[in-house]
Amino acid sequence: MTLPEYPPLAKASEGEPFYVPCGNEVAMFERCHARGLAVMLKGPTGCGKTRFVEHMAWKLDRPLITVACHDDLSASDLIGRFLIRHDGTVWQDGPLTRAVREGAICYLDEVVEARQDTVVVLHALTDHRRLLPIDKTGELLMAAPGFQLVISYNPGYQRMLKDLKPSTRQRFVAMDLDFPGEDAEAKIVERESGVDAPTSRALVTLARRLRALRDRGLAEVPSTRLLIAAGALCVDGIPVREACLAAIVSPLSDDEALVGAMRDLVDGTF
Ligand code: ADP
Repeated sequence: MTLPEYPPLAKASEGEPFYVPCGNEVAMFERCHARGLAVMLKGPTGCGKTRFVEHMAWKLDRPLITVACHDDLSASDLIGRFLIRHDGTVWQDGPLTRAVREGAICYLDEVVEARQDTVVVLHALTDHRRLLPIDKTGELLMAAPGFQLVISYNPGYQRMLKDLKPSTRQRFVAMDLDFPGEDAEAKIVERESGVDAPTSRALVTLARRLRALRDRGLAEVPSTRLLIAAGALCVDGIPVREACLAAIVSPLSDDEALVGAMRDLVDGTF
């Protein structure tokens, strides 16, 4: 079997990815990494899960391989496949196999989106043997030191439709991440968007008011990511209320009553 030449994996990041911790997640992740435990990051969209993994990969000096999961993702997409080339057939490692071979952190973003039969390939990697069987080549790969499996999962989203099986969930140490506290979030929005401190603070105040609408039927509440987008539009000269409507209110709902309630909160904040 011929393996194609792969370019070396990029280092996790050149500089330290900016991350403001919200609890003891950094120490907890370090312990899990040292013990080779797989981690499940739970939390709403845009609350910082991806940034946290990027930060940890940098801190632990491991390469990071990220896979955005979707309902068409097959086991072969993760593990690899034979490719037919003019000079014969070559095996091409998938992202998971590469991470296992090279001792990288493999981050499967929004793992509930993936099909169950795809998720099942993770099972052997999460027990103490840390093995990846590759049926198509007959290989049984043992994970290189430093390999770690990390999945993210938004518990609120499509909860009734999709969920992880208990047999999968029990293989991970779960860490709950949520939106940062008020001061931390204001600092993040200011730093990431470049907006001034008072506007950043007001955006965070608005977000807190909007998040309270969850009880009135708002399925997805504004994430830190949306606040950063609104801040960035302000920096580019868009008036703040317009920026809030375009970057925060409109993406969240099409429901007239909810949009009206959100507009009122924008008007009351700025
Ligand atoms: P998720 O993966 O949970 O959907 P991200 O990690 O992509 O969310 O976060 C969205 C953006 O919010 C990030 O790009 C980053 O700019 C910012 N962010 C959120 N939380 C933090 C945090 N704790 N520290 C630094 N930046 C954060």
